Amino acid sequence: MSLLIRDARVVSPGIDLPLTSIWIQGDRIARIGPATDLPQEPHQIDAAGHIVVPGFIDIHTHGALGVSAMDGTEEAIRALAAAKLREGVTQLLPTTWTETPEALQRALRGIAAYRENPVFARVPGAHVEGPYLNPKCVGAQNPKFVRLPDIAEIDRLRALAPVRIVSVAVEMAGAIEFVRQLRTRDIVASLAHTAATYEEFLDAKQAGLTHLTHFSNQMTPLHHRAIGIVGAGLLDDDVLVEVISDGIHLCPEMLRLVGKLIPPERLMLITDSISASGQPDGESIEGGQRVLVRDGICRLESGNLAGSTLRFDRALAIFHKTTGIPLAKLIAATSWNQAKSLKLEGFGKITPGYYADLVILNAETLAPVTTLVGGRVVWTLD
Ligand SMILES: [Zn+2]
Repeated sequence: MSLLIRDARVVSPGIDLPLTSIWIQGDRIARIGPATDLPQEPHQIDAAGHIVVPGFIDIHTHGALGVSAMDGTEEAIRALAAAKLREGVTQLLPTTWTETPEALQRALRGIAAYRENPVFARVPGAHVEGPYLNPKCVGAQNPKFVRLPDIAEIDRLRALAPVRIVSVAVEMAGAIEFVRQLRTRDIVASLAHTAATYEEFLDAKQAGLTHLTHFSNQMTPLHHRAIGIVGAGLLDDDVLVEVISDGIHLCPEMLRLVGKLIPPERLMLITDSISASGQPDGESIEGGQRVLVRDGICRLESGNLAGSTLRFDRALAIFHKTTGIPLAKLIAATSWNQAKSLKLEGFGKITPGYYADLVILNAETLAPVTTLVGGRVVWTLD
């Protein structure tokens, strides 16, 4: 089947084109240009000046609308993959909590089951957050299940479903060799829940570390005589940083600082959303612990932040508004950087030959209007 999206403002890394149309054939983008230059097409969507951007890739989401990646069922992953379409997310990595080996395996089985019939957002695999964290920096992860890095456990998990990212504290015993082993398996190592020094970061980078998980949160802070991991994220030209752009995990001034010091090519917006996302305030159990949600902010009883209720489109809108970075630059941070880093070929740009994973956004609010996966309309605002 073919489809024409007419008269959109097309924003993709490095381009921002007014009144442009996108001709889709099958699951790919065939051509881009003025509607008059493209084939007459019976199936059309009139974008009426709305913005079309590459579908968002959320590489860090624990859940939404009452379901969790830890539920371990096809139904839960399907519900999450459906819920995320409303945020413009066309690809996601269900993200595990620090839990028992059995619970992690169950989660990976749920992901594998959905991947057999992925009708909503694509799920290229899992983000395993922990359990290999620094027990002093667990945040809302359950300290009971923290353990030392264990590549054999990762091998057992990836026998069930692809593991794309492992979030690990590189100062733990055996962690540098663990990072090296992840690299040989083409798994991204992401530094998380850590008290590592800048020197330990450099060792880990040498071994293959490429990401920082939820930048600045549960991470060695910047000190003027020891720049820590926050300093590493600001200074290092190669490392990519996950950003929870909700104005809570990073206050608005920190978002501005991040936008000022880290180029968009190194930023990856994430939601870190939990099952409470999209739900009314209340209580839930996450990773075996009670989470209280008040005014959309998730905390353990201890007060530690416990993920977010952030929507991906809001993350973009908040970061755009707070930093003033033009969309054509910032949009690299919503899918292109993630696709490149995870080697998801053919995703993250609006260009001929690429998959037609697209989201049409309201030009004023940046809220999604229509989401397409592989040229198929999978969600539309009522
Ligand atoms: Zn975390």
